[in-house]
Amino acid sequence: MPALPSLINMMSQLIASPSISCSQAHWDQSNKGVIQLLESWLSSQGFQCEVMPLPGQPNKFNLIATLGSGDGGLVLSGHTDTVPYDKGRWKSDPFKLEERDQKLYGLGSCDMKGFFAIVLDTIRQMQLSDLKQPLIILATADEESSMSGARALVAQGQLKARYALIGEPTSLTPIYAHKGIMMERIQITGQSGHSSNPSLGNNALDAMHDVMSELMQFRQQLKANYRDASFIIDYPTMNFGCIHGGDNPNRICGRCELEFDLRALPGMSNQALMAEIAEILPRIEEKTGTKIQLNSLFPDVPSFYTSIESDIIKACEALTNRQASTVAFATEGSFLNKMGMETLILGPGSIDQAHQPNEFMALNQIQPMQEVIRGLIERFCLQLNEPKNEE
Ligand SMILES: [Zn+2]
Repeated sequence: MPALPSLINMMSQLIASPSISCSQAHWDQSNKGVIQLLESWLSSQGFQCEVMPLPGQPNKFNLIATLGSGDGGLVLSGHTDTVPYDKGRWKSDPFKLEERDQKLYGLGSCDMKGFFAIVLDTIRQMQLSDLKQPLIILATADEESSMSGARALVAQGQLKARYALIGEPTSLTPIYAHKGIMMERIQITGQSGHSSNPSLGNNALDAMHDVMSELMQFRQQLKANYRDASFIIDYPTMNFGCIHGGDNPNRICGRCELEFDLRALPGMSNQALMAEIAEILPRIEEKTGTKIQLNSLFPDVPSFYTSIESDIIKACEALTNRQASTVAFATEGSFLNKMGMETLILGPGSIDQAHQPNEFMALNQIQPMQEVIRGLIERFCLQLNEPKNEE
């Protein structure tokens, strides 16, 4: 088999290939370069590679690379994109991997191009010619912006495996759950008029006051009715993020909008929450003579939960000697679970360094992550019989 570059060399090449994804078009880039690198390296190791352009986004790609066959098996998954970077706040070039103080610096070093280099370097060291169950490397597009890569995979419904690990930076702690995220906008259209006579208009700010009171009550109910002690913030949250409305004190405010997020616990339905909020609004429209619209700013991310009794959680707890836990950030986990995989999040590097200037991965994360990857491949792809779930 053709030799792979060294781990550091692979990581350098991945980081040198820009793949920013962003809802702001002037930042958004194709991830083609990263996909091509992964495809060439994985093909050289005998993987069957399928590069899939996203529907409606011809410059964005998912990669599914498969070794072996069978209906079980293991997916090792990561996203190929990075967030934008703060120009001028990096001590070194974000696209040039630099080693300083036992750390590897670069945009995507821990979130999460470094993970792919670690996976490839681990595969290189293993004898994988006789897999009993398939090993699949999944590389997705646009996780940092819309998660459209993962959404496309769910829509295609092609990817099948029993277990999945997503190598997001968790400082090597196995993660079995996170909250969902919804980002919503409420727009109120009233009628402007001279402030001296309130009957000349319908005040959108007055209506927004009612909307916010109702939403705050709803938030109290959510907090009272839903608890999950495995989260540090153990209840669903709703944050009012910004409000814009009106122009002058002597005009009746004709228009006002509010943006908020809602983070639901596992087991709660984003759609049901949206429906409950939508139900509040017609009453206020009627009372205030305004029109109120509720819209999503982004497609929602469902909460993520895998049973802590799952074999992959147990296996990762044993391999890391750490108890599975929860995190406050969102991942593609719920999408992989939707495709029928038992999924966990576990990866090298810390989320504290992700999305920051001078992002790095500490060198001491590499070897323990390789041991986890090796252990999972041995357990779920190389053993003759899949270990049984039941006693
Ligand atoms: Zn990430």
